[in-house]
Amino acid sequence: MNFEEQKISDFKRWETPFYFYNISLLRETLQLYVSYINKYNYHAHYALKANANERILEEIRSVGLGADCVSGNEVALALKSGFDPKKIVFAGVGKSDKEIITALNGGIFSFNCESIPEIEVINNIASGLGATAQVSLRINPDIDAHTHKYISTGRAQDKFGISPWMFQEVWQLLLRCKNVRLIGLHFHIGSQITEIPVFKTLCERAFELQKWFIQQGATLPVLNLGGGLGVDYADPFNHAFADFDSYFSLINKHLKVLPNQEIHFEPGRALVAQCGFLISRVLYVKQGRGIKFAILDAGMNNLIRPALYGARHHIVNLLSKGRTMRYHVVGPVCESSDHFGKSFLLPQTQRGDLVAICTAGAYCEVMGMSYNQRDIAKAYYSDTL
Ligand SMILES: *Cc1c(COP(=O)(O)O)cnc(C)c1O
Repeated sequence: MNFEEQKISDFKRWETPFYFYNISLLRETLQLYVSYINKYNYHAHYALKANANERILEEIRSVGLGADCVSGNEVALALKSGFDPKKIVFAGVGKSDKEIITALNGGIFSFNCESIPEIEVINNIASGLGATAQVSLRINPDIDAHTHKYISTGRAQDKFGISPWMFQEVWQLLLRCKNVRLIGLHFHIGSQITEIPVFKTLCERAFELQKWFIQQGATLPVLNLGGGLGVDYADPFNHAFADFDSYFSLINKHLKVLPNQEIHFEPGRALVAQCGFLISRVLYVKQGRGIKFAILDAGMNNLIRPALYGARHHIVNLLSKGRTMRYHVVGPVCESSDHFGKSFLLPQTQRGDLVAICTAGAYCEVMGMSYNQRDIAKAYYSDTL
């Protein structure tokens, strides 16, 4: 197993459930990622929504990445955490006036605009503040990223982005708006994308779609390809890093870059997923019909991905060395959707055992809630034991 005896004895003392972050793995991941960014001369903004834990943000900021935000509070948090405003971008289909004001006052790099009325509102607010907003147009390229339907964001039927049939109207509007400046196009087609060739389609489509704007006389100094690179939930210990090599070499090979154009990315999950664990205690083992339930003290309020997307996280029993058996692993919350998955092969499991739910660094702590009036779980770090 990948946890040392010393850590497991700490785990035994701490109140469960809790999140545990392996900071050295996070650093290794960031170093690897940054090595590719530097190699190809790309720019990256970390998607705060994947994990906005202070410690994690500090590690990410300190390697020089920018921030990709999807709410005014995320913009405020990024600023407070010391991210350079010139490296903050702000996306989202429903930016409120208050959020737009926060971002304008913060002097962020760019708004990733998702609709015609949004551009009008940003222009009006910017004009009132005597400011000019830099905007990228988030384009809906109608690409199916072959991921879960709730995290597909680039198909024509999805709510995100501006579709090509609106380009003429958007362009006319931009000509009239004196307080917004178009700097580029933005794409983000989904999350947990494991079919890397999807990104080749994205490169080709992005280049084609840019042409229309260039023909109208636009200069597009920025092309932002978003995030979405997936990680291995089934085998986290053998695949501790996302396949950055395939991803970046494919993009480098297929993307035609305009002269003087910067290429931007917005990684979230791929940077933080594998460094996080949800550590939980087995409360009861209960005989069900034909299989036992292992009932944990962690539930969907600590990790909602199985309930929300049918996700399956690898689970390890940290204490038992018994012969393996099958268990349905469930939480204590009063919802049948509060489960971590069916038929897990675990060593014989009993009350009091500690389990590690792996790949819990992205979209877990940050989605934590207090449903059933349950406590919000604490976080611990490998380097502050
Ligand atoms: C969520 C999000 C990301 C990050 O997605 P990952 O799948 O976590 O890499 C990037 N850009 C935008 C606009 C997002 O909404």
